[in-house]
Amino acid sequence: MHMNEPFFDDGCEHVVRHTAPGRRTVDPVETIMRLEDKTCVVTGGSRGIGRAIAETLGEEGANVVVNYRSSEAEAYEVAEGIDDGPGSAIPVQADVSQLDEVRSMYEAVDDVYGGADVLVNNAGLTRDGKFENMTREDWEQVMEVNLGGVFNCTKTFFDDLCEADEGRLVNISSVVGQQGNYGQANYATTKSGLFGFTRTIALEMAGSGSTANCVAPGFVKTDMLETVPDRVKEKILDRIPLSRFATTDDVAGIVRFVAGPDSSYMTGQILAVNGGMEW
Ligand code: NAP
Repeated sequence: MHMNEPFFDDGCEHVVRHTAPGRRTVDPVETIMRLEDKTCVVTGGSRGIGRAIAETLGEEGANVVVNYRSSEAEAYEVAEGIDDGPGSAIPVQADVSQLDEVRSMYEAVDDVYGGADVLVNNAGLTRDGKFENMTREDWEQVMEVNLGGVFNCTKTFFDDLCEADEGRLVNISSVVGQQGNYGQANYATTKSGLFGFTRTIALEMAGSGSTANCVAPGFVKTDMLETVPDRVKEKILDRIPLSRFATTDDVAGIVRFVAGPDSSYMTGQILAVNGGMEW
């Protein structure tokens, strides 16, 4: 171990100081909670990437709103886990594609935490199929959640994000929005759409000192990836320089940075978390 190298054991950060050859003292210093007193809304926080994001922000001391549509038991479990740590959490049911439900979620957030500082637009779904077989319903369902939900949530929390001390909007896009993907014309369109949306909102928010950025994961081990046939997954793996699918924590770690104080001067950007895939 090098001079003054930090290490971690019981949740407290310690600094090891070598005072003389062969001797050292360990001074506990306060663990830094980078999101203490910040309220972070994570849409689709009940499962997959959203769950990891909610838990990671909770570890930073945030008040986390764990939004879900149908996975009630999972959302309560995530919130209870966060409450057991340095953060606090409430589960809130709302289908993000329904503006009235998002407004009700806003009321719940406002009642408990007095508004939001960070919005992570993570909720999303797929309805895959070759374009020749894709129905208008497949198209609209994906538009309504992946883009309509982003509109509804951003619209509803926009004033809070602008009024916050360095508010943060984080939109979860996808490498599929950058590269396209066979059988995902509807999904790819929504994920590309987030790039234009994010850059525009970043400009419109900039005067308030708040930021808007996109995180574009590659292929992540969640229920969503489970819908992809094994033979297709093998082909995808061949295209990933790091030779593995992402874990949900790989993505959550980047969101922690984007949502936190270290990203103050970064806005309108797309952060690719894809194991080195080109786009
Ligand atoms: P997932 O495991 O299928 O989980 C989806 C989450 O979104 C669930 O918590 C679900 O909540 C929620 N959700 C879906 N529709 C909703 C709605 N109308 N209102 C509120 N919540 C809704 O998906 P994931 O893989 O974690 O994906 C999360 C995000 O990352 C999506 O935007 C996805 O496009 C993006 N992404 C995923 C990958 C990947 O490989 N997995 C790669 C790149 C980007 P309920 O269960 O409560 O309904």
